[in-house]
Amino acid sequence: MDFAQTLLAWYPDHKRDLPWRDTPNPYHIWLSEVILQQTRVKQGLPYYVAFVELFPTVQDLANASEELVMRTWQGLGYYSRARNMHATAKIIAQAWQGNFPTTKADLIKLKGIGEYTASAIASFAFGEQVAVVDGNVFRVLSRFFGIEADISSPKGVKHFQELAKTLLPTQQSQTYNQAIMEFGALQCTPQKPNCMFCPLQAGCVAHATGKQDSLPVKTQKIKQVVYTWQWFFIK
Ligand code: SF4
Repeated sequence: MDFAQTLLAWYPDHKRDLPWRDTPNPYHIWLSEVILQQTRVKQGLPYYVAFVELFPTVQDLANASEELVMRTWQGLGYYSRARNMHATAKIIAQAWQGNFPTTKADLIKLKGIGEYTASAIASFAFGEQVAVVDGNVFRVLSRFFGIEADISSPKGVKHFQELAKTLLPTQQSQTYNQAIMEFGALQCTPQKPNCMFCPLQAGCVAHATGKQDSLPVKTQKIKQVVYTWQWFFIK
């Protein structure tokens, strides 16, 4: 089995049951992506539920008062995320009549939606054939292929994005994107990856060379990038 097929086979038995999975609703996917930036799943989950309940559509979020949005966000930290999310909801409500753009190319033009979030929405909501590269994916790819490109440099990021594109299966690319991210979160973890019971172990360079702890290479602290709340978070 190749890399992608191995992850696709691993995923159904291991994935966490999370409400933003298995939904094609781009608004719900976007909410989850914004909430989970800088936030653990366990902490973010009740906020996701609260936002979906209080503001079931992007139009509802756009129409809400800033005071209510900020109150609902209270306790989650990084408050600029909530303010920017509210501003973007208004843009989608007005300029896009409440409908999310359906392609990565259009999504990325929206204020506050960067490379990662645009790819995630395009893939998970609209099935676009794009690779989603987050901190988990950097880690899995760097370890499995033994890549020492620096993920804190634009050149390194590009290298991984190019590689991720080539690995995308022609069928089920959306599930594959979920699978590799979940694999990084649960199996190929930052500390103490579960190499002993890993389905990728036989081909893994980091396992063969004992480099799990030194990959991925990150020479600088990852900085907040371009848009005000779009972060790459690498643990
Ligand atoms: S063998 Fe270890 S380092 Fe390699 S992919 Fe599996 S969990 Fe990650």
